[in-house]
Amino acid sequence: MTITKQPLLNIGMIGHIDHGKTTLLHQLSGKWTDTHSEELKRGITIKLGYADAIIRKCLKCDFYTREKKCPICSEDTKELEYVSFVDVPGHEMLMATMLSGAAIIDAALLIIAANEHCPKPQTKEHLIALEAKGLKNVIIIQNKLDLVRKEQALKNYEEIKNFVKGTVAENAPIIPVSARQGVNMEFIFEEITKIPIPKRDEKSDPIFFVARSFDVNKPGTSIENLSGGVLGGILKQGILKIGDEIEIKPGMSIKKHDKTIYVPLTTKVMNIFSGKNKLDEAKPSGSLALESELDPLLTKSDKLVGCVVGLKGKLPDASYSLKLKTNLFKSMIGTEKETAVQPLKIGEPILLSINTSISVGIIQKLKDSNIEMSLKIPLVALKGSKVGLARNLSGHWRLIGWGEVL
Ligand code: GDP
Ligand code: MG
Ligand code: ZN
Repeated sequence: MTITKQPLLNIGMIGHIDHGKTTLLHQLSGKWTDTHSEELKRGITIKLGYADAIIRKCLKCDFYTREKKCPICSEDTKELEYVSFVDVPGHEMLMATMLSGAAIIDAALLIIAANEHCPKPQTKEHLIALEAKGLKNVIIIQNKLDLVRKEQALKNYEEIKNFVKGTVAENAPIIPVSARQGVNMEFIFEEITKIPIPKRDEKSDPIFFVARSFDVNKPGTSIENLSGGVLGGILKQGILKIGDEIEIKPGMSIKKHDKTIYVPLTTKVMNIFSGKNKLDEAKPSGSLALESELDPLLTKSDKLVGCVVGLKGKLPDASYSLKLKTNLFKSMIGTEKETAVQPLKIGEPILLSINTSISVGIIQKLKDSNIEMSLKIPLVALKGSKVGLARNLSGHWRLIGWGEVL
């Protein structure tokens, strides 16, 4: 395998709150993703934390690491694969909905703390979301091994085995680690390199989902040195090049009296970055940053999260209504007790997750499994996209199924 200038795989960090996702991501990538505030901006966004890593292998002792010199024998290491990790800091409650609607991950690390009973409600919810999405590449991480004795670790291992029986993760590797102490990270790296790289669609018109947006300028930068607004996210399909004329939808939100309206933006791609690498053109794969000609005020503090980017004139308009074919689960999964999922009702609010955006929809029409919803925040819904559906139950959004855009 040859190393590319772009990450080839997007790996999601999933699992119950406090089981060690963010800590593990820090060990694997050297970066913390929990540094920004966690509120849902505009009522729709979830900030995804991306961190890239290059997996390397020792030329002499075959140790997997991200260090240039082998930590075991000090020999040089060689680059094997460039990957992106995706964390959803602080949003475990919504993650299952996100996961089932997002076209953003190719594989998942399912993190399970060894010092607790398995499965915890969100562990279960996240695994079911992966199944709904049809995602098969799962690596199970048995974390916090430093906190348990051998007997407890073995008992927990049996619980994990039982829990995943009959699911997509039935034969997934289970790697015992301590994320806090950085123990056994090499086995995670090794398993990641075994995951097949998915085939990407490079022929269709480019579609880019905005997961972050920033102003990268330091205060006091002179006008001629100012960078344009930056969009971070994932190119789902097609190829984006420097100089491409793009449009961003639904676009910028403007408050008018009591109402918020959305104005699509058009601009030009000035630069493309994959981590520290500058690219002339980007192919679908891991996370990217696009520098645009936009005023950085427009992209500041994640203002454009949830938007879709395409070539000028090629994107459908954002819409305040959405038609879906729904698939509901038989029983609720994110709760301690299993209860049946009640049918959808007219007038009911449903939390929708599609790609990098979240919106609440009210069911207006209902026929068999097809529904028509009105949306609080407009969405660019591409036909065939998967949508995670969650219902509010005693204050928490719970994944109840998924839908497909009609
Ligand atoms: P997240 O909610 O899944 O992202 O979990 P975090 O990574 O934020 O970790 C939650 C807490 O568990 C933090 O206090 C971590 O320091 C701690 N933690 C994570 N991994 C380990 C581990 O391997 N051993 C121990 N003892 N603590 C850990
Ligand atoms: Mg976290
Ligand atoms: Zn070595």
